[in-house]
Amino acid sequence: MADIIRLLPDHVANQIAAGEVVQRPSSVVKELMENAIDAGATDIQLIIKDGGKTLIQVVDNGKGMSGTDARLSFERHATSKIQKAEDLFNLNTKGFRGEALASIAAIAHVEMLTKTEDDEIGTKIKIEGSKIVTQEVVVAPKGTSMLVKNLFFNIPARRNFLKSDQVEYRHITDEFHRIALAHPHVAFNFYNNGGDVFQLPANDFRKRIVHIFGRKTDEKLVPVEEETQVVKISGYIQKPEFAKKSRGEQFFFANNRFIKSPYLHHAILGAFEGLIRPGTHPGYFLNLEVDPATIDINIHPTKTEVKFDDEHTLYAMLKSTVKHSLGQFNVVPALDFEQDQNLDTPYSYKNKQVGVPQVVVDSSFNPFETVKPSKSNAVGGGGNYTKPKVDGWENLYAGLETTVDSGVSHLEFESEVVNSSIFDDEKEVVDHSTTTFQMRKKYIITTIKSGMVVINQSRAHQRVLYENFLKNITIKEAISQQLLFPLTLSFSTSEINILKEIKENLCTVGFVFGEITENGVEISGVPVLVVESEVQMIMEQLISDFQQEVPGDSFSQSDMLAKTLAKTLSVKTGETLDEFSQVKLVNDLFACKETTLSPFNKKVYITITENDIERKFI
Ligand code: ADP
Ligand code: MG
Repeated sequence: MADIIRLLPDHVANQIAAGEVVQRPSSVVKELMENAIDAGATDIQLIIKDGGKTLIQVVDNGKGMSGTDARLSFERHATSKIQKAEDLFNLNTKGFRGEALASIAAIAHVEMLTKTEDDEIGTKIKIEGSKIVTQEVVVAPKGTSMLVKNLFFNIPARRNFLKSDQVEYRHITDEFHRIALAHPHVAFNFYNNGGDVFQLPANDFRKRIVHIFGRKTDEKLVPVEEETQVVKISGYIQKPEFAKKSRGEQFFFANNRFIKSPYLHHAILGAFEGLIRPGTHPGYFLNLEVDPATIDINIHPTKTEVKFDDEHTLYAMLKSTVKHSLGQFNVVPALDFEQDQNLDTPYSYKNKQVGVPQVVVDSSFNPFETVKPSKSNAVGGGGNYTKPKVDGWENLYAGLETTVDSGVSHLEFESEVVNSSIFDDEKEVVDHSTTTFQMRKKYIITTIKSGMVVINQSRAHQRVLYENFLKNITIKEAISQQLLFPLTLSFSTSEINILKEIKENLCTVGFVFGEITENGVEISGVPVLVVESEVQMIMEQLISDFQQEVPGDSFSQSDMLAKTLAKTLSVKTGETLDEFSQVKLVNDLFACKETTLSPFNKKVYITITENDIERKFI
């Protein structure tokens, strides 16, 4: 048989390598910016168009390349950063594989302009799909400009696989954040479609964080500092009360390189344990400096996953250092001269003894007694789910008493927060003949002809809200409640971008937006079910959901919006519902198009037939 093995031509090999190095425009941004950093640049400009699909340009003032180097840099395994295998263990540069430029040049139109300090004139090289088109001598400033156009022009399958410009832009922004945070002493400018996104002067780490994530971030940061023989930890964590629904602001850097480490992330979660609300994520910006010989950054081609020699020690140290910072912060709150005076303890309370809260038990309480519902839970609230119990608040409703005698068994404990009503529209007909019962603040039990139904209250409410919101979005007729004073919420630039994307849909459910600026969003109206104090939380949840998964078409966007709102606004397990709300929930659920599954495909209720019960008695 004839020999059949052949060496792949270079341009094919390069295309294959490109598949690993260049997944999407943001990978190009990462490689080019890292090269600029490695070249010692102190000023780096990033310019992109159409999510990087049409154009990505990185201009640096680094050391530049000679004519020969310029040409060589596009060869595979061409690198100035290592010479022998041992160098791998003492890496201080971002790159070392010598693959990036060869890969990029294989799948795009590339123009490089470069000049070193010592050379009088520079070099301009044009490459398309690994083929050098021109190389000329030109006048150029010191440094390098890399222009990458028409990414994946010769691999249509990959090009079609790219997401919308907005999504690709978001990936680029994430990459930009990581590199800009890892190098606060380098100045960065970022332009998108001709507009400037970031102008970051050279700065210290804290100021860099604040420049990127907005002015409000400053007050949230707590410094972290620890130096041992194994590692130097520095940076900031965010105060627990600012923990967010989204995981956006979590950054580890190892020797100035952004890394992902689920293991070390876990250490931080451990330190924050008990200090943050469930479902929220702490923010952190932490630098770990270790001996380059004790870290292996080689295990992943895109180099965000690393392996530390002594991960266990690092874990323990990180956890205790963060805990220590949190502790210090709790004990010695930072002096803040601009603190809102209203938040201070009122003078008359200052010297008061703190009393032990009393638990009052009603000894005459009889769970089997049918009681008339008290007025406190018969009067509907304006959509407030959890209403703190204030002494004498019932007086506010004097004269408004309604007596609903539905003969419904109802349990209520004096010390509990009772949702007076989870529904707004009390005028709707509630079938008072329905008998309901709430069990373990989780299930609503009601009878049907053939037996009984056990309904998961939270999932049922999710279903009801979901269908409602979806309807509102489709017919664009949501009722909005005007806020007396518009709220201004602050967000980071990338969060604002997401908000802009979903704004139109948010309006259809009842949000009314005022001005949207770089760091803030003005909200002047909210859907009727939304309480003002929850707006920030809801927005964060929405942004977080959209950050994690970006729906392609507008239907899925509406669907996701309705789901998020339903999830956030629904009654939760652990909330007591009065009988009015119980009955309303049951009726609303069974008026839904789909009743058996929640919007998240979870079972909403189970039925237990009389037969089932009788069988148990045999
Ligand atoms: P690596 O960064 O892994 O060495 P690259 O393909 O990214 O591989 O780059 C190849 C070489 O080209 C680098 O080692 C460096 O010498 C040179 N180079 C690339 N970009 C620049 C730049 N912006 N300024 C100066 N030299 C550069
Ligand atoms: Mg490189």
